[in-house]
Amino acid sequence: MKYGALEAGGTKMVLAVADDELRILARESLPTRTPGETMPAMIAFFRDQGVDALGIGSFGPLDLNPSSETFGYITKTPKLSWCDYPLMPEFEKALRVPCVLDTDVNAAALAEAQVGAAKGLKNCVYVTIGTGVGAGIYCEGNLVHGLMHPEFGHILLAPHPDDPMPQGICPYHRGCLEGLAAGPAIEKRWGVSAKELPADHPAWRIEAHYLAQMCVNALMTVSPEKIILGGGVMGQKHLFPMIRRETERLLGGYLAPVKDLDQLIVPPACFPDSGLIGSLLLAKRAAEQDV
Ligand code: ADP
Ligand code: ZN
Repeated sequence: MKYGALEAGGTKMVLAVADDELRILARESLPTRTPGETMPAMIAFFRDQGVDALGIGSFGPLDLNPSSETFGYITKTPKLSWCDYPLMPEFEKALRVPCVLDTDVNAAALAEAQVGAAKGLKNCVYVTIGTGVGAGIYCEGNLVHGLMHPEFGHILLAPHPDDPMPQGICPYHRGCLEGLAAGPAIEKRWGVSAKELPADHPAWRIEAHYLAQMCVNALMTVSPEKIILGGGVMGQKHLFPMIRRETERLLGGYLAPVKDLDQLIVPPACFPDSGLIGSLLLAKRAAEQDV
């Protein structure tokens, strides 16, 4: 078997082909332009490689309801040329192989659960903190979908009393997690890119407070055995101990069995390929569903 994987991002598309052992045989990266420009090159890559199944981990939002007429579409994305685009149906039509689509973060959660930081565990949450905030949830062996798919980036948080921008910048909810803690919110609040802020800047205390609220909410709802934090902002490694300490403080001793937050809140083991490896695992699922 040859498995194809596409990690579809707002700025770039990463494509790979792997064998049964998930060893990568070919890999390519393309800038994300319009579907008319980008799709033919991606289809040609997978066709030339002769893939037997394709897994796609994509930016969203996505329609993942199999009984919907627009199943497999990218829906109302701010990336306008991809709005209401039939991403999975177009690949199915062109390649005539089984395809599975999921969110980029659900794919990343799958990779971490099967071969990464949460290997062997039943539940984990993968959160990326970058241009936006997104989360994938792996629960009792399944990726969570439902009414749509988890949109953990838009959970509502209590503002930090010292936050100079407590109202947040999400166009839908203002002070949700993404509106307060994604890279652009940090930049707007401090007038400088998150990358440029030194480790001792007050920005990180506030950031850790928001990400700790998210961790507490995740622990109380999904009961994950690992919370895996990735994305550009988590390039600030000093945030990890700050988030763990703040999570412990906010828990207030409530989750008594949770003792070792060093082991609970961790970076991705598959970095920087969690989404791509997860897409390969989705391709494997597509092939298995087909037999
Ligand atoms: P995307 O979310 O677009 O896939 P990233 O995960 O790289 O891409 O996130 C980009 C965001 O992360 C930007 O807002 C950028 O300022 C921020 N960022 C990237 N690298 C760092 C870093 N080392 N420290 C802090 N912030 C970073
Ligand atoms: Zn929001």
